[in-house]
Amino acid sequence: MHIVVLAGGIGGARFLTGVRAYAGQIGAEVTAVVNVGDDAIMHGLRICPDLDSVMYTLGGAADPERGWGRAAETWTVKEELAAYGAEPTWFGLGDRDIATHLVRTTMMNAGYPLSAVTEALCARWRPGVRLLPATDERLETHVVVETNDGQRAIHFQEWWVRYRGEIPTRRFVFVGADAARPAPGVLDALAGADVVLLAPSNPVVSIAPILAVPGLREALTGNRAPVVGVSPIIGGAPVRGMADKCLSVIGAECSAAGVGRLYGARRDGGLLDGWLVDTTDAGAEVPGVTVRSAPLWMSDEAATTAMVRDAMELTR
Ligand code: GDP
Ligand code: CA
Repeated sequence: MHIVVLAGGIGGARFLTGVRAYAGQIGAEVTAVVNVGDDAIMHGLRICPDLDSVMYTLGGAADPERGWGRAAETWTVKEELAAYGAEPTWFGLGDRDIATHLVRTTMMNAGYPLSAVTEALCARWRPGVRLLPATDERLETHVVVETNDGQRAIHFQEWWVRYRGEIPTRRFVFVGADAARPAPGVLDALAGADVVLLAPSNPVVSIAPILAVPGLREALTGNRAPVVGVSPIIGGAPVRGMADKCLSVIGAECSAAGVGRLYGARRDGGLLDGWLVDTTDAGAEVPGVTVRSAPLWMSDEAATTAMVRDAMELTR
């Protein structure tokens, strides 16, 4: 049994702890295809927020409160950079985290692709699942915003971290997506998948950039393996983060059914065979998709594993 999961950062990482536990129980293999749209170069370092959230969480090294970055983090380098007035001062790079970015950047400067670098970093963290970036090419989510001087595209990190999404926003653009190719292993994983799960990640800025890599969506829907998504929206609101802001920018409804309809039924050219919503949202309907409800709060690993089991039940 091979389970492939499409994942963003925090929601993806937590979900994967449950997938890993479930897979351990049934002897399945897991591949996570992770968003790189949030990646950026800051202070000359290549930052991969979603890959790192997944790697640190599965490696038992994530800060559980903050949700991103390392536990027991210190911020000396950040303070020193700020003292120089070195931009961007709004982006938090922890000291421990910086070591990861230094190793990654050094390897990438030496010519290694991101997928190989990720594998090398995972030799330390042993996440227990195979982590693949969606692509090795640069694919960056930019956000077209309105300023006093007219429209301007800013990096997703600036929109998210600096402005908290509170700036008039027109649309998201996945820069580089046209020329991107799925990273080595991604198409093979999808072709060999017995089940594909869409983590309860942000559909607009975590899952959509993965699907924007040419060929990836076709590989996913071209396989007969069932595709089951898990709603990141419970009772009309994201559990954490700003998925509501992102959904409103693209004109989608912020509800479990709204996100299900956004992904769409596979029979209608969409993605989904099954859609798992929270018990609060029982009765949600997505035309052409089998919808079931179960508790979707990833409060701990046991709850998350139960949730994964429910998602897997939907594939039968
Ligand atoms: P990011 O890249 O770090 O923003 O993380 P993701 O895109 O992977 O996940 C963010 C999404 O996870 C948000 O839309 C949240 O609503 C969702 N999320 C976080 N915790 C939970 C949870 O316990 N249950 C569910 N169903 N969704 C969650
Ligand atoms: Ca992210």
